[in-house]
Amino acid sequence: MQEKIREIKLLFEQELAAVDSTKKLEGLKVKYLGKKGPIQDLMASLRNCSPEERPLVGKHINELKEEVSKVCEEAFLAFDIVEQRARIELEKIDITLPGRQRFHGKKHPIYLLRDEMISILSGMGFSVQYSPDVDSDYYNYEGLNFPPDHPARDMQDTFYLAPDQLLRSHTSNTQVRVMEKHQPPLRIIAPGTVYRNETISARSHVFFHQIEGLYVAENVSFSDLFSTMEEFWSKLFQRNVETRFRPSYFPFVEPGVEVDIRCTACEGSGCRLCKHTGWLEVAGAGMVHPEVLKNGGIDPEKYSGYAWGMGLERLAMLFYGVKDIRMFAENDLRFLSQF
Ligand SMILES: [Zn+2]
Repeated sequence: MQEKIREIKLLFEQELAAVDSTKKLEGLKVKYLGKKGPIQDLMASLRNCSPEERPLVGKHINELKEEVSKVCEEAFLAFDIVEQRARIELEKIDITLPGRQRFHGKKHPIYLLRDEMISILSGMGFSVQYSPDVDSDYYNYEGLNFPPDHPARDMQDTFYLAPDQLLRSHTSNTQVRVMEKHQPPLRIIAPGTVYRNETISARSHVFFHQIEGLYVAENVSFSDLFSTMEEFWSKLFQRNVETRFRPSYFPFVEPGVEVDIRCTACEGSGCRLCKHTGWLEVAGAGMVHPEVLKNGGIDPEKYSGYAWGMGLERLAMLFYGVKDIRMFAENDLRFLSQF
């Protein structure tokens, strides 16, 4: 029996030397101390010993059992620490490393300008309204005093989707829609995309962006339009900007004007940006035509109003010095990342 105990002890020590993880150690522990293990076998064979031998042999078996158990326990702790360290090493984050450069998207230059304008006009009391890109002939033309076959329709080459369905050619399709729903005083702006069936070139595109402005109330006069325009452009440029009106024609206003501002590059002395005129054309405007007020259900005897519209690509070209309108629609990151 004593021989057997020594043999098992030796075997255990040999096997322990080959163990290199808590998992293998667990296996070894079960193998030696488990119910079907050699130590349990020794216990079972105790009954074959003589009664005189039994206490001593039993004591030695117990000692072996305790030693195996103790050695396993100690080895387990040692392996556990090593494994924990390895795991921590693996999962370690070096917070002193520089962050990875990620590509950040940002706003399109047209939307930067648009948002700036909306912010200024909101501050001046205008609320934002939206109208559909696909609209009826009525809201885009007829309601705005463009009767069928009116020559002014040729000013804007229109994409028709069906006889009475088109891609709006201007954000003015918002005007009658808003008047139908709300009674004066009305003070709204309508930003949006507009579409025209034009040949794409450096100066024109089949779609671009506009912001429409509309104010309808009692006793609205031409001078209100003028002061609103002057205030708006001055706020946009953060300094006093001189504004002037030139007579023009749009069927939905009477009288109609082109709005110019004093050239922001040369202050009026003449430069390439203003084509040496000293002025930049920035918007179309006028007093809302009485027919348009009537179409919106508003009494032109009691109320009057003004409206204006501005093309954002044209302005962005002026302000950023972009020579080709197509750049805004081409998604060239080399161009867009400059803004
Ligand atoms: Zn100039």
